[in-house]
Amino acid sequence: MTRFIFITGGVVSSLGKGLTAAALGALLQAQGFTVRLRKLDPYLNVDPGTMSPIEHGEVFVTDDGAETDLDIGHYERFTGVSAHNSDCISSGRIYSQVLECERRGGYLGQTIQVIPHVTDEIKKFIRHGEGETDFMLCEIGGTVGDIEGLPFYEAIRQFDQDHPSGQCLFIHVTLVPFIEACNEIKTKPTQHSVKELRSIGIAPDILVCRSENAIADKERTKIALFCNVRPDAVISAPDLPTIYDAPVLYHQQGLDQAVLAGFGLEPRGDVKLEPWMDVANRISRVNGEVKVAIVGKYTGLEDAYKSINEALIHGGIANKLRVQQDWIDAEVFEQEDPTPYLQGCHAILIPGGFGERGSEGKIKAARFARERQIPFFGICLGMQMAVIEMARNLVGIENAGSEEFDHENWQGNGGKRRFEPIVYHLGQWIKGSKTEHRSLDDDKGATMRLGAYEACLLEGSRVAEIYNSCQIFERHRHRYEIDIGYKDQLEKHGVRFSGLSPDGKLPEILEIPDHPWFIGVQFHPELKSRPFDPHPLFADFIRTAFVQSHLL
Ligand code: GLN
Repeated sequence: MTRFIFITGGVVSSLGKGLTAAALGALLQAQGFTVRLRKLDPYLNVDPGTMSPIEHGEVFVTDDGAETDLDIGHYERFTGVSAHNSDCISSGRIYSQVLECERRGGYLGQTIQVIPHVTDEIKKFIRHGEGETDFMLCEIGGTVGDIEGLPFYEAIRQFDQDHPSGQCLFIHVTLVPFIEACNEIKTKPTQHSVKELRSIGIAPDILVCRSENAIADKERTKIALFCNVRPDAVISAPDLPTIYDAPVLYHQQGLDQAVLAGFGLEPRGDVKLEPWMDVANRISRVNGEVKVAIVGKYTGLEDAYKSINEALIHGGIANKLRVQQDWIDAEVFEQEDPTPYLQGCHAILIPGGFGERGSEGKIKAARFARERQIPFFGICLGMQMAVIEMARNLVGIENAGSEEFDHENWQGNGGKRRFEPIVYHLGQWIKGSKTEHRSLDDDKGATMRLGAYEACLLEGSRVAEIYNSCQIFERHRHRYEIDIGYKDQLEKHGVRFSGLSPDGKLPEILEIPDHPWFIGVQFHPELKSRPFDPHPLFADFIRTAFVQSHLL
């Protein structure tokens, strides 16, 4: 029997509900159970693929090509369970499914309403896959009280009623602020938030109280009394030095025990928390430090490159090193010489991105890394920028560029190109046994080359050695591709195309053998990195950066 755990949030957003869900998933696994995690987002976008990363954080891509919320990344990193398209839903997707069904005549004769049609569709989504795992954890995005969230709260309320008692559990994550002026923590916002939740028919079983410091027993008892939960179901969740401390800390605070008690299940005697203790140890007891400059576009919001941020930490975990991340806005280099910013760094990374803004700055950073022999990692757009740099400065194609930045040409305005398209718009490619076709007039949502694709690595290449394999599967999210037609010219200048799509048409990886570490990848390796299984490219990048820093 699958048991369902619903995680809601109150008081303010950004409390780390996703992390709480992910850490609880890891804890239930440590108790010997199987889990699946899901995110239900109340916004009206069909998926987050078209949202700005500065507003919504990174778009996390699954193996099966869904563009999802960054919380899905937390779920995967904490549980190691790969998510699917069916693990992430939004109001937009629910409504479009309902409306499509209505147009097809699926509800003939009926008036379509939020209750029951929208709520039924939400419940169908939650139920999908029932019986496959011991627990299904469903996080509701946003905060209780949001207008958009109402159908979701109503659906989970009904879901509980539809099931035998003891099959569903509600966890509410709230804020318990510390008010400096009176030197006290305040429980009132939590009380109000629970009241709000009760008014829509949901009585939380467990409260996870986020606070700066641990909450004393006195306040926990008070919260329990006023919010009508058991005192041992009030979990103190203080700020942590690293998110990877969460599973061990939540266990110490009794979260997994409270959840199991809520379902009438016995906790196991031997909870397997060693991997998490090992990760926490490797983060706190490091043997050294490397400084990595990340030259990107969305540097204003840390969440915009969440998986890169985490994968670099994982690279540090693999080598017992602290990775100091120096995020630099690429646009700065369009006005200024990058030298003072980059010369003190042990490695340079250019992450993925969209649009022309900052691109010339990224090209300068790639050149700096290549010429100064600084370990360089170019990811997706980062790789495209590196190849444009090499086409310009090694091959001598002065106006090398990307079709992505040449809008007027596509729109037929005189047909004049500003750039020679070393990177071109990908109109067709092979996915499994099918050929995918795209044109620039297509819809923007979910039309990129998305999800896991195979790449064949060149035997004896650096990357084949790092992966210890010549066949890899990595996740993609891009519309443009490096033109394989430039392979010979670039290879004459010391670049090696060391990873290609199985049909040999799409460059997946470039490297410079005569450089301490210069690798560009068209995919997003950061999406598959886990704290207990760091991605080999990130592990090797950080290792080399450290070794090189000692040769300086
Ligand atoms: N904008 C580039 C493309 O669409 C790169 C995308 C990315 O970095 N994810 O190909």
